[in-house]
Amino acid sequence: MAQLQGKIAMVTGAARGIGRCIAEELAKEGCDLAICDLKEEWLAETAEAVKTIGRKVKCIAVDVSNSAQVNAAVDGAVTEFGRLDILVNNAGITKDTFIIRMTEEDWDAVINVNLKGTFLFTKAATKPMMKQKSGNIVNIASIIGLMGNAGQCNYAASKAGVIAFTKSVAKELASRNVRVNAIAPGFIQTKMTDLLSEEVKQKMLEAIPMKKFGTAEDVAKTVIFLSSDASSYLTGQVISVNGGMLM
Ligand code: NAP
Repeated sequence: MAQLQGKIAMVTGAARGIGRCIAEELAKEGCDLAICDLKEEWLAETAEAVKTIGRKVKCIAVDVSNSAQVNAAVDGAVTEFGRLDILVNNAGITKDTFIIRMTEEDWDAVINVNLKGTFLFTKAATKPMMKQKSGNIVNIASIIGLMGNAGQCNYAASKAGVIAFTKSVAKELASRNVRVNAIAPGFIQTKMTDLLSEEVKQKMLEAIPMKKFGTAEDVAKTVIFLSSDASSYLTGQVISVNGGMLM
């Protein structure tokens, strides 16, 4: 029996990588989905996969850092499906460079998508969830938000911010039966990490006790756990999915 039968879920950054995999796993567990990314046409493959699984899907073009677009996206999903049970704040970007070379634009871009985007979507989703007196929000943070990383001060700050944000909102919404948790993935093989050099990847591998990179499925399965009754007494938590890289 699917664990999330009939639930309505919304996933940001669902065109590819971890977000796409999360959308597919939620569909396999019985969710109908509102999937978001910058351009609607980029969502076609994810939408096809969700439909093939046999679930309904609505594709929404939205820049997560734009409040008007985010509010319209959440309103559109609630109008289409009548409610919203699960929100996964997954959209994220990197603009890596050492602080000495980092521009204000590099800083703002990463904070706006990763941190402000999580704030805007959570705020918009909180309204229907509070009304329903139930909901689950899962924020995709990063191991870098816990340990920092040279060349990623903007990304690390954004993800540390997502973690502190998660804990604060969890405290605010716990009495309304809305749970808010975060996942801190380690090195997961996607287009984002494909950009790294072989040398950096080899160094990373040496630092991972399990001696392998994670997969998008490893993160998606944790989203399912945090969205389901299997985790009904968890809120404000950060679950590390990192092969033991940080303990
Ligand atoms: P990805 O392959 O780059 O996918 C991210 C998706 O988000 C892309 O489709 C991207 O569109 C979209 N996006 C970017 N900016 C957006 C915006 N302003 N509004 C809406 N959508 C936007 O990345 P990923 O590796 O799957 O990462 C997913 C999440 O996991 C991110 O939050 C990332 O920080 C986190 N994470 C990843 C790893 C890892 O090792 N991969 C580790 C820890 C945490 P574009 O095609 O335009 O970029």
